[in-house]
Amino acid sequence: MNLAVVLVSPKTPGNIGAAARAMLNMGAHDLRIVAPRCDPLDSQAIAMAVHAEELLRSAKIYPTLREALTDRDLSVGTSARIRADLPAPRHPALIRPFVREAAAPALVFGPEETGLVNSDLEQCQMTVRIPTGDYASLNLAQAVLLVCYEFLQGQDDVQAVNRKTATREEMEAMYGHLHETMQLIGYTDAVRARHTLRLWRALLDRALMSSAESRLFRGLLRQVQWKVGDAAARGTTEPRSAAEPSNTATAEPDAEA
Ligand code: SAH
Repeated sequence: MNLAVVLVSPKTPGNIGAAARAMLNMGAHDLRIVAPRCDPLDSQAIAMAVHAEELLRSAKIYPTLREALTDRDLSVGTSARIRADLPAPRHPALIRPFVREAAAPALVFGPEETGLVNSDLEQCQMTVRIPTGDYASLNLAQAVLLVCYEFLQGQDDVQAVNRKTATREEMEAMYGHLHETMQLIGYTDAVRARHTLRLWRALLDRALMSSAESRLFRGLLRQVQWKVGDAAARGTTEPRSAAEPSNTATAEPDAEA
């Protein structure tokens, strides 16, 4: 398994160094840093990395989370909090079999003060939460240590699943295509698109589609786009009228339940 640890916008060099050390301890080597707010090679970072200096020096820097995840076939977000409008984070034991089966998983960690924002978590198929006492917010590097331990060194207590999922790049391209199609057919509009897409992403990400399945889905979208274009060219489409069925994208978040 080639597991990547992605730190989104870390602020403290010491945390980056300590995260690198935690990775080396647990057997992970691919450190990715998105838009750091400090120098990842600051002397504090190097001091905290100790024997993981090499790992720290080989860390790759990305401008956006999306770019950091393009080659990943499973992205797992981490969160200390339960968010009202996103699927609930799960216990590591429930996520472990998926990580173990993945060829190229990523674990995504948020900034020290705020954690990951919703749009980051939406790019992850699942979110893990380390169980804690009442004070749930762990130090970033300690969270990296515990989550890597759970997935790399922890005991398998759930049966492994057999699957081969699409990469994040393929899924994001599919969502771009879905978004376009939804707008084309008037399923959603610029105001509601974000909310609508969030519901569909949650549904489709849960399916852990293979590359072939993502292509299958895009084949359907392509046909819808072609059909609408063809109908427009023949002059058979009519302007939207009050008689049209009401927009199905008005589903409220509780439609997720
Ligand atoms: N105050 C933020 C926490 C930031 S801690 C919040 O309430 O969300 C920095 C990062 O450490 C988090 O973004 C997450 O990646 C990780 N982390 C902290 N506590 C965690 C926990 N209990 N489970 C999983 N990840 C955690």
